[in-house]
Amino acid sequence: MNVAHWLLDAAQRWPQRPALFEGRRQVADYQSFAARARARALHLRHDHSIAAGDRVALLLKNSCDYLELLYAIWWIGAVAVPVNSKLHPREAAWIVGNAGARLIFTDGGRTFERQDLPADCRELPAEVMPVGAPDGELLEPWPCADGELAWLFYTSGTTGRSKGVMLSHGNLTAMSLCYPLDVDPVQAGDALVYAAPMSHGAGLYNFIHVRCGARHVVPESRGFDAAELFGLAQALGQVSLFAAPTMVKRMVEQARRQGYDGTGIKTIVYGGAPMYLADLTQALETFGPRLVQIYGQGECPMSISALSRELIAHRQHPHWPAIAASVGRPHAGVEVRILDAQGQPLPAGEPGEIAVRGAPVMHGYWDNPSATQATLVDGWLHTGDIGFLDSRGFLTLTDRSKDVIISAGSNIYPREVEEVLMQHPEVFEVCVVGEADAEWGESVVAFVVPRSPDSLDPQVLNQWFVTRMASFKKPRKYLFCTELPKNSYGKILKTRLRQWLQDPTGSVAYR
Ligand code: AMP
Repeated sequence: MNVAHWLLDAAQRWPQRPALFEGRRQVADYQSFAARARARALHLRHDHSIAAGDRVALLLKNSCDYLELLYAIWWIGAVAVPVNSKLHPREAAWIVGNAGARLIFTDGGRTFERQDLPADCRELPAEVMPVGAPDGELLEPWPCADGELAWLFYTSGTTGRSKGVMLSHGNLTAMSLCYPLDVDPVQAGDALVYAAPMSHGAGLYNFIHVRCGARHVVPESRGFDAAELFGLAQALGQVSLFAAPTMVKRMVEQARRQGYDGTGIKTIVYGGAPMYLADLTQALETFGPRLVQIYGQGECPMSISALSRELIAHRQHPHWPAIAASVGRPHAGVEVRILDAQGQPLPAGEPGEIAVRGAPVMHGYWDNPSATQATLVDGWLHTGDIGFLDSRGFLTLTDRSKDVIISAGSNIYPREVEEVLMQHPEVFEVCVVGEADAEWGESVVAFVVPRSPDSLDPQVLNQWFVTRMASFKKPRKYLFCTELPKNSYGKILKTRLRQWLQDPTGSVAYR
């Protein structure tokens, strides 16, 4: 089934229900949301010859246009390629080329130099709203089977290049049906606020809220501002949102400053990175039982496990510290196993690689059969995360086998940062690791071996970096050393570097 049927269904059932909001202002009810999506679909088809299976990219900050465009793309059976709007245009252009997208929607004026985009891809402003959809055409969404591609979800790869996770209409519906079962039942009058990027987890929560005829609210700032969010919650009521743990931390700080207690917020779903117990305790003290945790990854979006509101809030439970430090129990749509290095299941309590099987699991990586083969083994998704299941079925993450740095809820892959720094003519070697950071979760640290002593300083490298890559990925610290520790195969020992960070008086000279 094409997910766009959920929008048609909501428009038929509740045509006058409020659907889209810019801040507190309603901009569309369900009837006009569906009509606008359909008009945009016809525009894509007639004016840009977009057909079923074609890819259309979106490089946009959050907006109501974003939702309309997503549904327009699906309405004609095309494939959406949402791109993180914080990426450098060159990084975004690479994704567009890899996906073979024919169009890319951007905000307002031009984002790309013509030569940066593939020759057969055009840039269009998202806000241009076509008028005059011919009657009687495309009244129904294009008939898509469950296995057909709907969303190419670009996640960075440890090889330094993003990989396009292939999510089908079936994956997205299965993921969405987990939400009311394991996260939070959706009621009429609920309002989903998009405070985190729609290209990622927050956007994936749109489907179930469309299916249930709830409100969709894009803050006027088009991003995350805790004070603005609280104002929206008080004005609109029954507000739910997806937030990375760093966002929850900021919400707590702001709420304490202004004496706000969570009135108007129904549910804060957190996930995407570890939540420290001290932060969770403060969030509970500030907002009460409004928190639910999820664990997922692009390859099994938002739907590997969930920790319920009741368990999170039950601080008197004798096992609360262990429960609250876990990521909960497997979602309704998946089985979870812990595997040893040979791929054999491990008993309760023993850590190993987390593997997942079920309807929300991706179909593979776009145009990357070797990565698909390495990740989907005998129907099981190998997540690259290390964890254990306890005897009551709770899953706890212990480590990430990939060296991903998660800063402010965004994944940063060391290799892509290293690639950029290595291009500097004065850099001989470089290795990037994450360092625990009270505010951001983790921050990026680059160990750099210069070609000659004193030839580099942090300002020079910083300038080099920000002209080539998104600034949220930039190293917060550069440490210059004479050599990097390596094993006998010549591989850099990242664990040693992390130890140095904790004890800078260690044996290797650096400044
Ligand atoms: P992404 O594919 O960008 O959504 O990143 C997914 C990764 O984020 C997972 O593989 C985990 O390493 C991490 N992650 C997701 N949810 C949680 C969570 N609730 N707690 C800790 N880490 C998480």
